[in-house]
Amino acid sequence: MSAEARRRAYLEALEIDVWKRRGEDVAGDLDGAGETALAEPVAADWDGLKREVTACTLCALHKSRTQTVFGVGNQAADWMIIGEAPGVEEDRRGEPFVGRAGKLLDEMLRAVGLQRDAVFIANILKCRPPNNRDPLADESSSCRAYLERQIELVSPKLILAVGRVAAQHLLGSDAPVGRLRGRKHTLNDGQLPVVVTYHPAYLLRSPTQKRKVWQDLCMARQIMQQTNQ
Ligand code: URA
Repeated sequence: MSAEARRRAYLEALEIDVWKRRGEDVAGDLDGAGETALAEPVAADWDGLKREVTACTLCALHKSRTQTVFGVGNQAADWMIIGEAPGVEEDRRGEPFVGRAGKLLDEMLRAVGLQRDAVFIANILKCRPPNNRDPLADESSSCRAYLERQIELVSPKLILAVGRVAAQHLLGSDAPVGRLRGRKHTLNDGQLPVVVTYHPAYLLRSPTQKRKVWQDLCMARQIMQQTNQ
């Protein structure tokens, strides 16, 4: 599919009618900022890690979860998508991003030529917070080593952080998404690019922001193309 056809498909899928040329409003440069180091891993391999997450009782969320939501997708993916935490549907099905926001995430990925099973999708938290509230500090710090190990195992070429919680936790920042998006961040001593964009659940409430998400996705794709050169 041509870039223009893909853009059209994106517009249609996301019901965008206000549009600007690609590249407009993409703030900043691609040279990086906001270094954050990753900490010590937990289990060494996928099976051990999954078992550890499934049995985890490190924070109180284990008492209210239906099941843990480990993450899904290509374990050797170039793109890793990181969200916040399971919602009610994810808690019920044991898979991230399967509710309404998940359908929109799938459309976003398709817009840049990615099928859901080509990427790896995980969350900051592996258990659902009650009433979908923000993760508490002890919950995200209990879960952090699991996500870090997942990042190490996948060894992606790029992380797409969707939403404020994911972006702030990954980058160790308290800046809003509006300030974090539009430029390349990095982890792992500058080796791992991180692109921040709005959460699909937010887009469902604020569809006028879809144009910015398209710009973020294009920037991520451009970074990936540069990485592959
Ligand atoms: N929102 C997220 O951040 N993650 C999910 O898995 C579902 C909704």
